[in-house]
Amino acid sequence: METLSKLQILSGAARYDASCASSGSKREGPACGTGNTSNGGICHSWSDDGRCISLLKILLSNDCRYDCAYCVNRSSNSVERASFTAREVVDLTLDFYRRNYIEGLFLSSAVMVSPDHTMERMVRVAEILRTEEHFGGYIHMKIIPGSSSELVRKAGLYADRISVNIELPSQTSLQRLAPQKHKDAILAPMALIGREIASSLVERKASRRAPRFAPAGQSTQMIIGASPENDFQILCLSQGLYKKMNLKRVYYSAYVPVSDDNRLPVLAAPPLLREHRLYQADWLLRFYGFSAEEILSDEAPNLDESFDPKTAWALRHPEFFPIEINRADYGTLLRVPGIGVVSARRIIAARRFSAITPEGMKKIGVVMKRAKYFITCSGRSFEKPDRPAALLRQQLLLGESPAPALSTQLVLPGIFS
Ligand code: SF4
Repeated sequence: METLSKLQILSGAARYDASCASSGSKREGPACGTGNTSNGGICHSWSDDGRCISLLKILLSNDCRYDCAYCVNRSSNSVERASFTAREVVDLTLDFYRRNYIEGLFLSSAVMVSPDHTMERMVRVAEILRTEEHFGGYIHMKIIPGSSSELVRKAGLYADRISVNIELPSQTSLQRLAPQKHKDAILAPMALIGREIASSLVERKASRRAPRFAPAGQSTQMIIGASPENDFQILCLSQGLYKKMNLKRVYYSAYVPVSDDNRLPVLAAPPLLREHRLYQADWLLRFYGFSAEEILSDEAPNLDESFDPKTAWALRHPEFFPIEINRADYGTLLRVPGIGVVSARRIIAARRFSAITPEGMKKIGVVMKRAKYFITCSGRSFEKPDRPAALLRQQLLLGESPAPALSTQLVLPGIFS
C-alpha cells in the first residue's frame, strides 16, 4: 500500500484520541539535527473543535487483535487495515516538520500480534528519530498496556510525554467492554512511569547530564458514557491517579457510538456537556484545592448540568459566604465563583499596596456577574446577602453566558491502546 493511503487510514483513526495536548517540555535540538522543543508555543495550535492539530497524530497500525466493543479498530469490525514501518513514520515526521506542518509526533497503535511486538516498533520510531535523525521536536507516545517494563523505560527516554489510557473507569466495565484488557496491566506501567519520572527529576538535580524521562509527564484518557459509572466515581479515580501516579493530565472523551453492540448504551448524542463539566471539575482538583468528595458525594454523584462545579459547590455552601475580598487568604479566594487562579494571585499582590475597590476588582479580572453574590469589598455587599437560594440560582443562570457550542465539538472514541 502507498504511504499516502496508509497515512489517510492511520491518521484518520488516530484523530479520535483526545489526549494529544502537549506542553511543559524543553528540548534543545542538536546543532547538526532538526528541530527543537520549547516550553511555550509548541503543539498549542487547536482546531475549532478544540483538538490539538500541530502534532502529526498517527497510528503505527490499526490492525488490532483485540476486540474492544467501543472502538472502531476492534478486530471484529470491517475497516480497511494498514500498518506503517518505523522508517515510514520517521520519514513522514521529518517531511512534515521541515514543511512546518507540525511541531512533533503523536504516536499510538492498535495491538498488532502482541503488546511487546507493537511497543518495540513504536519505540524504534522514537529511537531512530532521536538517535539517527537527531530530531529535537516533541514526541508523545502511547504505551501499550501489557508491554514489558524495559520497553516502557525506553519509550520514556525518547518521548517527551507518554500515556497509558485507562479507557474505562472500572475493572467491571473493562471486563464487559474490553475483555482482553485488565486494569492491572494499565495501572502497572502508569506506576512505573510515575516512579521513573520522579527518580529522573532527583537524578537531574544532582547532575544535568542525567537522562530525562518523559519530561512533559504522563497522561491518560477515559471514555465517558460508554459504561455506567457516575461522575463521582470518575472524579475519585482521577484524584487517585493524580495523587498516586503523579499524572499530569486526565483527558475525558465523550463516548460516540461506533457500533450497535448491545453491551453499549444507546445515546441520542455524545455526552459532551458531561465531558465539559468533568474537565471543569478536574480543573478544581488540580488547581483550586478541591477534593472529589467536596465536589460530589454518594448522595449527589453527578455534576450539575446547569452550573459549573465551583458555582454548584458555592450554592450548596451558603455558610462559607460572603468572603471579604480584602482579607481572605488565597485558598479561600479560589473558592469564590468568578475568581480564578490568576485573579486570586492578583488580588493578593494588589492588597499589599492598598485595599481593593469594586472598580479595581474588574481590572484584576474578577468575573463580577458571578462573584458579586459571594463577596464583600471592605465590608460592602454588592447584592442583598440573604436572598432565597432559588432566587440566587435563577439570577446566576440568567447571568451565565450561553453554553459553549458543545454540539459542534468533535469528540470521538479513541484508540485506547
Ligand atoms: S481500543 Fe485499542 S486495543 Fe481495543 S480494539 Fe481499539 S485499538 Fe484495539
